[in-house]
Amino acid sequence: MYDVIVIGGGPAGLTASIYAVRAGLDTLLIELGAPGGQAGTTDMIENYPGFPDGVSGPELMMSFHKQAENLGVKFKFKKVSQLELKGPVKKVYAGDEVYESKTVIISSGAHPRVLGVEGEGKLRGKGVSYCATCDGFFFRGKEVLVIGGGDTALQEALYLSKFCSKVTIVHRRDRLRGAQMLQKRIDKNEKIDVVWDSVVERIEGENSVEKVVLRNVITKETKDINAAGVFIFVGYSPNVDYLPKGLRYDKQGYLITDTEMKTNIPGVFAVGDIRQKGLRQVSTAVGDGAEVIVALERYLAEQED
Ligand code: NAP
Repeated sequence: MYDVIVIGGGPAGLTASIYAVRAGLDTLLIELGAPGGQAGTTDMIENYPGFPDGVSGPELMMSFHKQAENLGVKFKFKKVSQLELKGPVKKVYAGDEVYESKTVIISSGAHPRVLGVEGEGKLRGKGVSYCATCDGFFFRGKEVLVIGGGDTALQEALYLSKFCSKVTIVHRRDRLRGAQMLQKRIDKNEKIDVVWDSVVERIEGENSVEKVVLRNVITKETKDINAAGVFIFVGYSPNVDYLPKGLRYDKQGYLITDTEMKTNIPGVFAVGDIRQKGLRQVSTAVGDGAEVIVALERYLAEQED
């Protein structure tokens, strides 16, 4: 019986586990893939304080993981398939095992949204990608499209421009959403073009991406762009598929917590990108992870009374 099981090893989950072991709690963190979550697949993080020249996402997340490991957090690398959260003993089903705990912290984050256009599913992994740091290398010297106008799209377009011959950002409006500083860099970068007011109609190719058909949302005209890769960054959806009934969500599907990260089920907490919040960044994930342990310790003390 653990004191706390943390589900998901991104910055929120790793921070929560660091604070939990330092509070003397027997802590298990279960993670599906490599530690670090989305931050671990980000080329460069420039807004996490303490790194004046920026820091690579994988490097930062490996440091979080190492710190958690050094302090005594136990790790299992498995997929959590089911949870039983009612009552004082929580059950976490992962692989062939069932783990028991007095509390659970849900920090399984979010996954990239798909566009849902023709050709996207068929060519996923064959030129269609949702991760520039994972797949960008395969497009060295080639032309690629980046879909979206938020921070992720801009950041990843800048990254891809380091080795692709040309990067075309396709945005559905006439103004980018991403940070001003990134927009300025995009403007200055000779390898990056922006196609405004346009969406992807379909992605074509037999065994790999060959062509993308765009539609201008104002004129309704379509145009073809030859490209070897399409990187899609149109936001995220929370990873909630494995969660049981009874938890409360907002309209976008994010878990609702109070300011202490408590969900509506006693002894069950949520931190990081999976919960309803104003800003999803490494720094706010870290804040959630630190904050949650105060309420969690209080819950454990109340259970013992
Ligand atoms: P986001 O801010 O939600 O932006 C998504 C972008 O995709 C928007 O430009 C949106 O267009 C566009 N879009 C959405 N659905 C679309 C569709 N069906 N077809 C075409 N375009 C579509 O998502 P994000 O950029 O992934 O960022 C997520 C969060 O992480 C944000 O809070 C962001 O600040 C943060 N983040 C921060 C950094 C950083 O600070 N350096 C880096 C990465 C991410 P509209 O603009 O028209 O809505």
